[in-house]
Amino acid sequence: MPTRTVHMTHPESYDAPKKYVLVLSCVDARLLDDLVGFLDHDNLTNRYYHVTLPGTSLGLTDRWKKDRPKPCKENQQKPNENLPVGSFVRKEPCYPIDLEDQFARWRLTFIDQVKAALILTEGQLTDIYIVQHEDCGAFRFYMEKNSSDMSDNDELEMHESYSQALVDDIKASFREVYNAIDTNCIPVQEKMPRLHTFYMDLRGHVTHLSTYPKDKSKPTAKSKATKTPSKPSVRN
Ligand SMILES: [Zn+2]
Repeated sequence: MPTRTVHMTHPESYDAPKKYVLVLSCVDARLLDDLVGFLDHDNLTNRYYHVTLPGTSLGLTDRWKKDRPKPCKENQQKPNENLPVGSFVRKEPCYPIDLEDQFARWRLTFIDQVKAALILTEGQLTDIYIVQHEDCGAFRFYMEKNSSDMSDNDELEMHESYSQALVDDIKASFREVYNAIDTNCIPVQEKMPRLHTFYMDLRGHVTHLSTYPKDKSKPTAKSKATKTPSKPSVRN
């Protein structure tokens, strides 16, 4: 049985997907090559649909409301005439007025992507990967959760909490919310895809956080993430 170590770049503590996979990741450009390498390792080349949203699961459930920063006061956030309509300049740490609406749109987008994957695979979407990552700029910008202000373990647990909230949401509402309906009003896929959560550090090392339903033969053993220096590029 494969086992995982702290220094293993790619975990093998879950059964490999048999058919198609939907991958949800952050938009962060620094880790795209590492993500593709991870998916290749899982033999998923040409077998996955890829959805990217800032912060991965950040805005997809109500979990973010526990970390909601203070609302912006009028004198803290003003429209910037030099930027496109609707752009604001943040004078002080605060969340934009429309954050709740924005996250609601992200959620609808993700749900639509899941439905599309179910339809396009003709009901053979066996797995969903939810890939959080270290030093996420979306968490810094929207939630004021700055990687450099947190311990490695706190950062890992924060991402685990958000991704688990999405897993719980899909578990609770797959049939009613996420599943697609065909032209005969029949659900496209009876069985809910397996749900995997991962955490990638800035060197591309992947920690397997959870799988639901659990693989009987491969118990999950979360390894401690190792903090790595930030890559000098734009964070998303
Ligand atoms: Zn990110």
